Amino acid sequence: MTKTPRGALKIIKTLKKEGFECYLVGGCVRDSLLKRKVAEWDLTTSATPKQVIKLFKKAVPTGIKYGTVTIILPDGKYEITTYRSDEKYTDGRHPDKVKFTKSIEEDLGRRDFTVNAMAYDPESKELVDIFGGKKDLKKQIIRAVGSPIQRFKEDGLRSIRACRFAAKLSFKIEPKTLAAIPKTLNITKKVAPERIHDELLKIMETDQPSIAIELMRKTGLLKIILPELLGCVKVRQPRPFHLYDVYWHSLYSMDATPKGNPILRLASLLHDIAKPECKKGMTFYNHNVKGEAKVEKLLKRLKFSNAHIKKIKTLVRHHMFNYQSEWTDAAVRRFIKRVGLENIEDLFAVRAADTAAMQETIGLDYLKKLKKRINKILKQEHTFKVTDLAINGNDLIQTLKIPPGPKIGQILNALLEKVIDNPKLNTKARLKDLLNQFKTK
Ligand code: ATP
Ligand code: MG
Repeated sequence: MTKTPRGALKIIKTLKKEGFECYLVGGCVRDSLLKRKVAEWDLTTSATPKQVIKLFKKAVPTGIKYGTVTIILPDGKYEITTYRSDEKYTDGRHPDKVKFTKSIEEDLGRRDFTVNAMAYDPESKELVDIFGGKKDLKKQIIRAVGSPIQRFKEDGLRSIRACRFAAKLSFKIEPKTLAAIPKTLNITKKVAPERIHDELLKIMETDQPSIAIELMRKTGLLKIILPELLGCVKVRQPRPFHLYDVYWHSLYSMDATPKGNPILRLASLLHDIAKPECKKGMTFYNHNVKGEAKVEKLLKRLKFSNAHIKKIKTLVRHHMFNYQSEWTDAAVRRFIKRVGLENIEDLFAVRAADTAAMQETIGLDYLKKLKKRINKILKQEHTFKVTDLAINGNDLIQTLKIPPGPKIGQILNALLEKVIDNPKLNTKARLKDLLNQFKTK
């Protein structure tokens, strides 16, 4: 077992001294047994939330309705949840009723998979494993606690979670658990999009998210969550550049995008999403532009934030650039302006993954060369947005004697175009000169 952090040990000791039970539970027990890095050290206790709050100076009732209190200690935050048994989840969001109990067995029985339903006391080294979680870790399988159909009917998110854990741990889903997924799709359809959003992001954080997406395709989940991707299946692409159809190319692009930023991985998964409807023979004209609109709709449906939608749209829109060494410096600067300096790194990451998922022989040389050019330009130049100009809207209003309005933005943009072509123009005096030309026009 991974060494338990001080804070978690202190919580367990404190509660046990007061006569309560307290264990590490869920993901941290599973990941410790697997010798994987533990993300959060969650705890479970027989004490009620009120009793927990009384015992700790900094205890915040973060999910009090579900019995969860967050304890803040010098080495971190710990979530501690009172033993509970959940009743039905009719809204697909939250259990209708939670009932606190005094039995750890009952609490473990409400959990989704055997590997997630173990509790551990690091003091006594007792492992509470009534559903055979340890055995399933050895067998590398995700198995529902109890009847899979019943468990997926209680909460339709669990089938998506099964696919996520399969990808996270590189495990198989046990056959009966897997067979229950297509039979409970109607329940999954009712799950709140906010919960699917969270799972989808967590899928993107696994080592190989394609495992989860492909499991979702095979079981019918993808039709509910991302039906747009199904349209990419068997859509052929020109050889020799492409080895795979659009669906597999998208999945491999996602896997090849560095872990750590789930939004980039999602952008890679979706970058060619409009190829099916743009296909004419072996060309896909305008699929980046159509794709931009398509991802916006899809991401809104899944309740992504405006910032994330904006980022993914930008990456889809611009993923098609083709660099040639003949580009002038002005062309490189125009490229930076078009994409936005803040998106360049991300676009390169997506593009590198896109290229890697085509044909290894293409190589990444062109990206390295463009990166070099960009870096060289950034050493001399930092004017890529209207706000980088040596004059602003107020200067325009004064010089041109025109009222505030959209015209100001248009003129600033025209000035920016000129500065991108010739950076030397970016001084107050020279820009004012240019403005006077506007005036006389
Ligand atoms: P990760 O490390 O990926 O966060 P985790 O096991 O901690 O994995 P969480 O989603 O954080 O997963 O949930 C914590 C624990 O709560 C799970 O291990 C499981 O025991 C239980 N759990 C979470 N969601 C559900 C659910 N929808 N149904 C049943 N049990 C659940
Ligand atoms: Mg967790």
